[in-house]
Amino acid sequence: MNYLSTRGDSTPRGFSDILLEGLAPDGGLYLPERYPRVDAATLARWRGLSYADLAFEILSLYITDIPADDLRTLIRKTYTREVFGTTEITPLKPLEPGVALQALSNGPTLAFKDMAMQLLGQLFEYELARRGETLNILGATSGDTGSAAEYAMRGKQGVRVFMLSPHGRMSPFQQAQMFSLPDANIHNLAVEGVFDDCQDIVKAVSNDLEFKRRWRIGTVNSINWARLLAQVVYYFAGYFQATKSNDERVSFSVPSGNFGNVCAGHVARMMGLPIEQLVVATNENDVLDEFFRTGSYRVRGAADTHETSSPSMDISKASNFERFVFDLLGRDAARTRQLFGDDIARHGGFTLTPAEFARVREFGFVSGKSTHADRVATIRDTQQRFGVTIDPHTADGLKVGRAYVKPGTPLLVLETALPIKFAATILEALGHEPPRPAGLEGLEQLPRRFKVMPASSATVQAYIVENCST
Ligand SMILES: *Cc1c(COP(=O)(O)O)cnc(C)c1O
Repeated sequence: MNYLSTRGDSTPRGFSDILLEGLAPDGGLYLPERYPRVDAATLARWRGLSYADLAFEILSLYITDIPADDLRTLIRKTYTREVFGTTEITPLKPLEPGVALQALSNGPTLAFKDMAMQLLGQLFEYELARRGETLNILGATSGDTGSAAEYAMRGKQGVRVFMLSPHGRMSPFQQAQMFSLPDANIHNLAVEGVFDDCQDIVKAVSNDLEFKRRWRIGTVNSINWARLLAQVVYYFAGYFQATKSNDERVSFSVPSGNFGNVCAGHVARMMGLPIEQLVVATNENDVLDEFFRTGSYRVRGAADTHETSSPSMDISKASNFERFVFDLLGRDAARTRQLFGDDIARHGGFTLTPAEFARVREFGFVSGKSTHADRVATIRDTQQRFGVTIDPHTADGLKVGRAYVKPGTPLLVLETALPIKFAATILEALGHEPPRPAGLEGLEQLPRRFKVMPASSATVQAYIVENCST
């Protein structure tokens, strides 16, 4: 399988060529040259598989340049009961008839990003060893991504992580989770500034091409194709759990920020998984809801990006969105380049033609928006009626998804984090702290390793040099 760029570069590249890359050289995102179609016989065969074996079947369609036995071993090491808590890996929790949560947040950092990042850790270690190379991952986080990356890369050969976070601004649990890691290859840099400052530093360092090459700087951000691919698996796993036969259809409601999670649902649907609707649920930062209602995509500035109680969805532009639009436009790279290159640079956004926009429904997409009041009410209601505590992001998904329930079609709401990560909002909704998963009792009391530094790319670069030279 080869990969191409959404902006037209079609130099043949295999999976392992793009595994360690971010954007394509022409500024586009990588996609496979085609989506393998899964027929009825294949679906029937996959229904009985364990999560890891299902993941192998799906991933091996897209990863043809790693020997099958090696790939199977990496996947089996990743999706285990020890790491994800249950044999199903992503079990369903039924709510009212026709609606269930699909739990994606029982990995080490209690958010769905572990689903992909844990595999990425294995793939990076394997590929770097194969090439005899090392990599220094530089990232910025406001919470979930950074901890998922650190827990995936801790102790891995050939990889160091330098993770910038805004000093004192993550939730107390998130800080404890990241800063308590004892592994020598993990470096927490607490930047005196806000998340945007952290992101600006990552950009500045990455744009210093000489530095980037010399110190082998890489990223693990949400545009990485391998992350998206790993997420495709749980749409199949959810479908098989929610249905008895492959004639049935299922809808998914997905709490969305950068469009990475729901884009994996789009890929699953393109492969032939019988998905009725993909519900894109946003919070007050409703760039995506606006697009799916109007056909206009308007990137927001920092000043128009709200800080909400579902903070992992506080985005001003959806970094994976270009992948879906490319498919929507019949894979017209010139038109994609015009919209995402020229129009966004010049006008801060674009509007599709009515004919282009009309196709959105053919792809199963609908959307909605949820607010702080909705979130709090949904958390309270779910606790009262079903005895289940959900986190604020999952609450957004449930609130928006319920508006689209169709009789006879199960709705799976993707649970993207456990409530303990966002205790303040749970306390507001329920009047008490959320339950704490076993094994994390003393987390806040563990010793912490982090380095406070000014919001300066030169200081960060100096730190990297110092810690790579040993
Ligand atoms: C990252 C994240 C999201 C948003 O996912 P995208 O792939 O960016 O759309 C939603 N909920 C939680 C808890 C997250 O960590």
